[in-house]
Amino acid sequence: MCRRQSGGEELAGLVALLYLVCVAMMVTRWRPPRSYSTYTPNCAGCNYDLDGLADGLPCPECGSPTPHVKVVRSGSHLGWHGPRLVKWLMLLPLWAMLLLVLSACQQPLVALSYWVQGYGWQTSNRAASGRELADIGCSLSGVLLVSFPFTVSMLAAVFVVHLRTRRWARVTVILMACGVLACVALWTIPYICYS
Ligand SMILES: [Zn+2]
Repeated sequence: MCRRQSGGEELAGLVALLYLVCVAMMVTRWRPPRSYSTYTPNCAGCNYDLDGLADGLPCPECGSPTPHVKVVRSGSHLGWHGPRLVKWLMLLPLWAMLLLVLSACQQPLVALSYWVQGYGWQTSNRAASGRELADIGCSLSGVLLVSFPFTVSMLAAVFVVHLRTRRWARVTVILMACGVLACVALWTIPYICYS
């Protein structure tokens, strides 16, 4: 694991940043400018004073057929997408739980790398916590680093949910399973070669 130590923090930071961007994209909505009409005492086209002119008559100055109607466009802005924001806030405890599960999986995942090299499970566990995990650290970035294939697959799942395809639930489960398998592969396959 030491060879990937340099740049690991940056990778974890990047993944965390990507996730934040995903969620921000999903809970915000760009509102285009809205236009509505309002009554105006002066001609909307040429500003001619329409005092005394009955509704429905064209402007005597410029001939505008609807001089009393002024179309106002209110500016575009970025707003919260209410229903989605609520949904994602509700999902927040789920993400926290997922993170807890991931941090609990750190130790056995790293221990796997020693185990496939022929060490006993107890020795592997001791080595994992004493050497590898002590270097990586028990932080958010450490969790993201150790299980980064899973994190990447969860990011893909965020996009799938965002697309709101009909099979999003099935695809999300498949992505999660692939992430778990990729984590196991990450911590075993490179080390089998050493044994
Ligand atoms: Zn006019």
